[in-house]
Amino acid sequence: MEIAPNIHRIECTFQGTRMAYVHLFVGESASMLVDTCCVHNPEQDIVPYMESIGFDPKSLTYILISHSDLDHQGGNAPMKRIAPQAIMMCHNLDQPWIDSAEELIVNRYMQWDAPHGYETTPEAKADLHSTMDCLPVDMTLEGGEQFNMGGGWYIEAVHTPGHTWGHLAVYDPVSKTMAAGEAALWNAILDIDWNPVLPPTYCYVDTYLSTLERLMSMDIQVYSPAHWQVQRGSQVNEFLRESRNYCLHVEKHLLDYASTMESFTLKQAIDDVGPKVSTWDESGNGLFTFPFNGNLERLTQRGLLTQSRNDDNIIIWSKS
Ligand SMILES: [Zn+2]
Repeated sequence: MEIAPNIHRIECTFQGTRMAYVHLFVGESASMLVDTCCVHNPEQDIVPYMESIGFDPKSLTYILISHSDLDHQGGNAPMKRIAPQAIMMCHNLDQPWIDSAEELIVNRYMQWDAPHGYETTPEAKADLHSTMDCLPVDMTLEGGEQFNMGGGWYIEAVHTPGHTWGHLAVYDPVSKTMAAGEAALWNAILDIDWNPVLPPTYCYVDTYLSTLERLMSMDIQVYSPAHWQVQRGSQVNEFLRESRNYCLHVEKHLLDYASTMESFTLKQAIDDVGPKVSTWDESGNGLFTFPFNGNLERLTQRGLLTQSRNDDNIIIWSKS
C-alpha cells in the first residue's frame, strides 16, 4: 500500500505467522527498495507488488538494507538477480553480517552459546541458513547520505543504532515519512495478526535510548516500522515512548531480581524475569537473550551489577 506519495509499504510473510514490511520509494529518476526480507520474499511478495503498481524491477536504482537480520537481508541475492543493476548498500557497521549469512549466524545468533551456556544445534543452524541467500553489498553508508530521487525530491539515510550497531532508517522530509525498520521495537514484536510473539530485541541499550530520543525530536508524521502498524501524527511519539519505557521497565525488573539472588546467569534471568515482562507465549522468550543481555551490560557499566564467571565459565551477574 502507498503510505505517502510515492512511498510503498509491502507486506512480506515468512515462518508461517511472521511478517516484515519492506518499503519502495519511487522517484522520477531514481527508486529505492528498503530491505528484502527472507530468501523467498522477492519472488513471493516484492516483485508481485512492483508489478501491481506498474514498476519494473529492472529500473530499480538502489537496494538499502536497514540492518543485519535474516528477515531483512535474506532475500538479497535473489533480489539482486532480479534487479542486477540496483546498487545494494547498508551501514558499514552491519556490513560483515549482511555480506555473509554464516558471519551473521555465528556472531549474532550464536553469540550466546559459549559465554552463556546455550547450544545452537547443527539443525537449528541449517534452518537459519535456509532463510537467507546473501552476497556482498556494493557500497556502505554512515548515515546522513541524501539520495536524489528526481524532481527535487531527496530522501535521507538516518543512522538509528540499538537493535544493531549499523541500523539505518530512511526519511522523506517532504511527507515527513520514516521507513523505520526496527529502530524502535515497542514492547513486543508482532505477528501477521498483530499479536505479540517475541520480545523487543534491542541490544545496545544506551545507543538504543539515544536513537529513540533522536527520533522523538524529529518531525515524523508517518512512521512505518518493519513488524508493526503504521503510526501517524501523535501515535509516532507514543510508539517511541513505549519503546523506551519498556526497555527501562525491563531494566528495573532485572535490578530488583538481582537483589534477590546471590548471582545469576542470563538463562536464569530469562526463566525468572521473562514471564513478568512478556505478553506472548513463552516459546518466544528465547530471544530475551538480546534485550536482557543489553540491560545487564548497562547495569554493569553503571556499577550496579558485577559481572564474573562461574565454575563452568558461564557469565554470571551479582548485585554490586
Ligand atoms: Zn532485526
